[in-house]
Amino acid sequence: MSDCEYGICPYDKSHRILLFRMPKHIIKCEKNYRGPPLQTCKYNATHRVLNMEKHLKECDYYLRSIENHAVQIALSSRIPPKLEDGHDVDTSL
Ligand SMILES: [Zn+2]
Ligand SMILES: [Zn+2]
Repeated sequence: MSDCEYGICPYDKSHRILLFRMPKHIIKCEKNYRGPPLQTCKYNATHRVLNMEKHLKECDYYLRSIENHAVQIALSSRIPPKLEDGHDVDTSL
């Protein structure tokens, strides 16, 4: 059996939880939790962290989402927008 289907409970490092059970487990554990409040990761609700900025540097889900975003930008910019020669382009915002 491989380890990769288990995650560590963010509220108690001694809890090793099957990933598909994690969302329910977290809700239960959150109620018993007495430590400093954790922030919920926007990219995966089972990620609860003290320092979101630091977490995002190593969050797989976040990194994947910006990767996808970059792919979409690359695809959509394949056809460069056609601009008229100079006039009518407002750069002042
Ligand atoms: Zn737990
Ligand atoms: Zn995350």
